[in-house]
Amino acid sequence: MAGTIYGATVYYDADCNLDALKGKKITVLGYGSQGHAHALNLKESGMDVTVGLRDGSKSWQVAEKDGLPVKTTAEAVKGADVVMVLIPDELQAETYEKDIAPNLKKGAYLGFAHGFNVHYKKIVPPADANVFMVAPKGPGHLVRRTFQEGSGVPSLYAVEKDPSGDTKELALAWAAGIGAGRAGILGTTFREETETDLFGEQAVLCGGICELMQAGFETLTKAGYHPVNAYFECVHEMKLIVDLIYEGGFHTMRSSISNTAEYGDYATGTKLITAETRKEMEQVLADIQSGAFADEFLADYKDGFKKLYARREKAANHESEKVGAELRGLMSWIKK
Ligand code: NAD
Ligand code: MG
Ligand code: MG
Ligand code: MG
Ligand code: MG
Ligand code: MG
Repeated sequence: MAGTIYGATVYYDADCNLDALKGKKITVLGYGSQGHAHALNLKESGMDVTVGLRDGSKSWQVAEKDGLPVKTTAEAVKGADVVMVLIPDELQAETYEKDIAPNLKKGAYLGFAHGFNVHYKKIVPPADANVFMVAPKGPGHLVRRTFQEGSGVPSLYAVEKDPSGDTKELALAWAAGIGAGRAGILGTTFREETETDLFGEQAVLCGGICELMQAGFETLTKAGYHPVNAYFECVHEMKLIVDLIYEGGFHTMRSSISNTAEYGDYATGTKLITAETRKEMEQVLADIQSGAFADEFLADYKDGFKKLYARREKAANHESEKVGAELRGLMSWIKK
């Protein structure tokens, strides 16, 4: 039966009823990272799954080869009882207007793996639709691989709209069907998932850490140290430290590094992450909460992703990328 972790309810397979999905016509839109994992895992859990893709999509043949029926997005939505939207966030609103809304069956269940479009009201489902989320806490390839190995990736679920009264049961069945019930399913809301996801990737996981590594690399090379040393110390070794934190928390990491490193960790970290940095973090969060970031991102999409692509190119030309590309050649265990 349901357990708890730090006060939060956790559901496992025994708390989930796959019958809530069995016999229903299920459509998964998109066959990328999340799409292929949800579609294949549900099919192997005994569900009737169709994949919806754009005409001419590169994924079309891949999904068919994987044994799934494929239709165009509009055709796949027609008659479906459950539609899971696993296409890029910036494309969801226009796809919803054009292909989903006009074909969505009355009383259907509409699912997401990220709350972005529903939370910021870029998609406003009709009153009769049941709206839920199942967001695995890992990339799609891990969701697929762990399922095949007999385990699963812990997932969040949320219910935004529940006119049928059984949307939670259906969301839990979905989560269990993709393997999450073997690991643990935790409840959240569209707002909490969206805002914490955006904050984490911007302030810490992607924005924060990449800028930190590159600033460290630049400080050393500017001071005349060889880029190879700068790369090893400020980029390459990040994984070794993060792996230790991942496996056992900060304490495990700190008990594995030298006392010299641990002393420097405490003495220096707070010089970098100052009160000013924390204030900036609060501002980042405020811009996420107000919807300002979401609008900025979608405006760039509408402008042909000019900012995204220019920044992507600039980042690709950073010296650390060039050193890294050569250095990785020395490491036989890194897959090409
Ligand atoms: P992706 O870029 O890997 O794949 C997108 C897929 O959508 C592709 O197969 C593409 O061909 C298809 N597609 C594009 N337009 C379409 C349309 N109009 N109709 C049908 N299919 C269309 O995307 P992803 O990373 O799997 O992200 C999907 C959703 O899952 C997003 O909401 C994302 O935030 C969320 N999510 C992703 C991850 C992850 O690990 N990548 C983790 C949690 C949540
Ligand atoms: Mg990408
Ligand atoms: Mg995330
Ligand atoms: Mg995200
Ligand atoms: Mg070192
Ligand atoms: Mg130590």
